[in-house]
Amino acid sequence: MSASPAISISPGDTSRSLPDLETSIRNWGEKIFALMDRAEPPSLFSTKGFYGTLMEWSMRDARFKTQLFRFVDVLPTLTSSSEIARHLQEYLGEDEVKLPTALRVGLKAAGGASWLVGTGVRSQVGGMARQFMLGDDEKEIARTLRGLADQGIAFTVDILGEAVVSESEADQYAQRYLELMEGLGRAMARWPAADPVSTLPGRGSPSLNLSVKLSALYSQIHPADPDTAAKKISDRLRPILRRAKELGAFINFDMESYGSKNLTLQVFRQVFGEPEFRDGPACGLALQAYLKDCEADLGGIIGWARRQQRRVTVRLVKGAYWDYETTLAQQRHWPVPVFQHKAESDASFEKLSLLLLENEDAVEAAFGTHNVRSIAHILAQAERLGVDRRSFEFQMLYGMAEPVKAAVLELGCRLREYCPVGELLPGIAYFVRRLLENTSNEGFLARKFAQGASREELLASPQRIPSVDPPKISDATPILQANSDFRNEPPTDFTVVSEREKMPAALATLRSHLGQRHPLVIDHKFVSTREWLPSVNPANQNETVGSAAQASIEDAESAMAAAKAAQPKWARTPVAERAALLERLAGLMGRDKAALAALEILEAGKNWTEADADVAEAIDFCNFYAGCMRDLGVPQRTQTVAGESNVQHWWPRGVGIVIAPWNFPLAILTGMVSAGIVAGNTVIMKPSDQTPVIGARLMALLIEAGLPKGVVGLVMGPGSTVGAHLVAHPQTNFIAFTGSKEVGLRIWETAGRTPPGQGHLKKVVCEMGGKNCLIVDSDADLDEAVAGCVASAFGYQGQKCSALSRLIVLADNYDRFLERLIAASDSLRIGPPEVPGNVIGPVISREAQRRILALIQSGKDEAKLVWQGSVPAEPQACYVPPTIFAEVPPTSRLFREEIFGPVLSVTKARNFDEALALANDSEFALTGGCYSRSPVNLERVKAELACGNVYLNRTITGAIVERQPFGGFKMSGGGTKAGGREYLQNFLVPRVITENCLRRGFAPEEQ
Ligand SMILES: Cc1cc2nc3c(=O)[nH]c(=O)nc-3n(C[C@H](O)[C@H](O)[C@H](O)COP(=O)(O)OP(=O)(O)OC[C@H]3O[C@@H](n4cnc5c(N)ncnc54)[C@H](O)[C@@H]3O)c2cc1C
Repeated sequence: MSASPAISISPGDTSRSLPDLETSIRNWGEKIFALMDRAEPPSLFSTKGFYGTLMEWSMRDARFKTQLFRFVDVLPTLTSSSEIARHLQEYLGEDEVKLPTALRVGLKAAGGASWLVGTGVRSQVGGMARQFMLGDDEKEIARTLRGLADQGIAFTVDILGEAVVSESEADQYAQRYLELMEGLGRAMARWPAADPVSTLPGRGSPSLNLSVKLSALYSQIHPADPDTAAKKISDRLRPILRRAKELGAFINFDMESYGSKNLTLQVFRQVFGEPEFRDGPACGLALQAYLKDCEADLGGIIGWARRQQRRVTVRLVKGAYWDYETTLAQQRHWPVPVFQHKAESDASFEKLSLLLLENEDAVEAAFGTHNVRSIAHILAQAERLGVDRRSFEFQMLYGMAEPVKAAVLELGCRLREYCPVGELLPGIAYFVRRLLENTSNEGFLARKFAQGASREELLASPQRIPSVDPPKISDATPILQANSDFRNEPPTDFTVVSEREKMPAALATLRSHLGQRHPLVIDHKFVSTREWLPSVNPANQNETVGSAAQASIEDAESAMAAAKAAQPKWARTPVAERAALLERLAGLMGRDKAALAALEILEAGKNWTEADADVAEAIDFCNFYAGCMRDLGVPQRTQTVAGESNVQHWWPRGVGIVIAPWNFPLAILTGMVSAGIVAGNTVIMKPSDQTPVIGARLMALLIEAGLPKGVVGLVMGPGSTVGAHLVAHPQTNFIAFTGSKEVGLRIWETAGRTPPGQGHLKKVVCEMGGKNCLIVDSDADLDEAVAGCVASAFGYQGQKCSALSRLIVLADNYDRFLERLIAASDSLRIGPPEVPGNVIGPVISREAQRRILALIQSGKDEAKLVWQGSVPAEPQACYVPPTIFAEVPPTSRLFREEIFGPVLSVTKARNFDEALALANDSEFALTGGCYSRSPVNLERVKAELACGNVYLNRTITGAIVERQPFGGFKMSGGGTKAGGREYLQNFLVPRVITENCLRRGFAPEEQ
């Protein structure tokens, strides 16, 4: 082991030498620019020709750019000229898109001669893409690489295609690497010089150089379980590394999105630390300077390299996923991992370049940039430190920045090109990233070659560039007034070790006091009963999570009396106090987040992510409804007329019964209870028989939050007796119910009766089931559609009212899609939900298991069973194998009845009209969606799909409070939207106060 310090950093304060350094950078920059001027500008930016025009227009007009890139994204999947012409028209034919004249003329012609346009466009875009990619013909690839070698340029090859949806795809990807390596190895054996680049002795990487994306080597990467992902990836990597070692090849790990960064580092250290690979193959990885973590990671890798006494190549890049990282973090309310100003990324790149140069005895530096300032900085620092510039290399992308490449070669620097190989379809994401990079107004290439920025500007120090606020990703105006203070509870980021570690600890603590008895709570008093119903773990029926008291009719009557007595005072309690109670409750749930999620894992059989999301949603309901009530609590003027005041305000309804389901055991219960009480009602809550311990836990938290006596009562017991009695009770003012259609309809009917002595109409807030559909169009992005359908259908074992159960696939895509859907489903991890990374667990109970299995059995007579997963042979668990039926007729039970389990029915549609008709052919109207890249078809779905929640190009489950108010109509519910701004109005009655302000003809000035 090396005794030297892990990392060495520049000694002392370098600021005094800064002016000198800046002069030197400027000199190097000028030298590079002078050399570049001798070369042709890169073809993308030449003003002539197709590419030039498109790129120029993209930079000028944001709408054109979006539409063009979206069209390019869908193009490889379009199979006919008429489809190409139709999409071209849909994307670029709209009025807001300003088109270059030539394109407009072409588009007009598209209607009459679609074959001409189709063929022309495909070949033009294909040609454009081929500028960045090498295709997949082995001989052609070898020829191109040989051509580079002849110019003194080394290469690294990468196989196009990123995240895989199934294990078979991951196997194929690994196999293709082996084949590529073999093929190139054979070809290169015939080349005259082994290494085209002049390096210092003992430095440089082997010529056969491959870049690998780890996400393509395992389809089930789960943030909560990096160890399994690391193992599976390493298993597929080892044969590649073994062969690379034999062939003397180099393996680089590309760096992808932030979510997989730590996993990439973990696999790198683990696998290259194994005895077999300690002395080869030569290895390296990319690190992204735009990440705030990058300095620490680079320090870690340098330290590791020293300890292992192994030279590692670090490819320092700025990072290619800036938009994605920024958007994702904003959506999840996570800290944004990337710098927000371009100059910060540039400055970070410079700082880390220096760190690499200073540690060049331990690590091999490779600088992946096309930016002349970044390159000049490296050359100036190398000169200052006395580092020979042949001891590190520059890396640039194939097809980009040709003049910059020519210049660095002229300067005697080593240059390697990153060469993606493969077809356009799997490479489309890479291609679109390159187009974005080329047209980014902040990017060096566009500034230099398209915008004509001055050398002065291009060589300015990033330290001196003032920070301007970054552009917002989306500026859409909210249609419904947003609750200004509300902020969604972020989902737990399980990639963070400390967050991950909380869950096993919470499960262990919970296990140490399982099996307790949970009495009723009436007027804050615990009420024990004669009967106790055990609540058992769906994954292990021998494990009793707790036992719930079973209320009698007398207990229900006492709960009603307590609620009735407490209601008037609670109604008079100021809105601010009622809202504050909910906010305290949210705070307590936040404190106990892991403990509550652990309880959901054991009592409801939710996996880590689903359990965590349910707790987050419960927190959201409390905070959101608190804010909504604060707003509603302020009386509103209706219409102003002289001499009259009209004010509307809201009164609570009275006493409510909340009957909640087990599938979102905390969120839905909390949502309905918190909405009821914040509105000034008192509530009797009846959690599901399957999840009473969660109900009892909520009750305890309410009391801890300061709930006054009688405002909420906890009553557990059979729905058919206690529940029915409370629903029919003449003193019940409203019922909030979420559950099955059967029970919901009964409640609706019972509540409609007005027995003698009942002086009011009951309000029913009713959310029932769904038979939810997704259409997969013929131009859908199948990578996304497959993953989205699997998650929507099988997430929480299909036991969500929003779960996908009817999948309607356009005929053109049917076979391809079904094959990938089955392969992806077959790759899902099934097992106890407490094991991190297991996605599918047991269904809620034995009874549910029997019922679903019987439906699957009868489904075999109605449709073709095309896939069934295998579940652990665990007799104590209630597993149901996830199942896919195909060719499901619309008349079948499979197509029509809600199953509430992991059963997916697939039906083929001949065209989009038929797909929509099939989708709407249901008594339910809860969730539905469509994967399509046809703007016209997406508009039709928006206008015509009869569902309360319509999702486009994403999963159809996972609604988030305020963002997607949730609820359906028809037989799915009464049209109320949980988590929406109008929801609280269901728990209130509006009153209008009209006052005549005229007194003997005198009207006050202020009204
Ligand atoms: C050989 C090679 C290999 C590569 N491998 C990888 C890889 O494995 N993983 C990967 O992610 N990327 C990789 N890249 C891409 C790289 O990260 C950059 O996207 C690309 O090189 C552009 O950087 P630049 O220095 O050439 O250009 P510049 O125009 O100087 O920089 C553009 C970059 O600045 C950053 N940026 C832009 N806007 C902002 C903003 N508002 N705030 C903060 N930062 C901003 C982004 O990172 C953007 O890509 C590779 C690049 C090369 C050349």
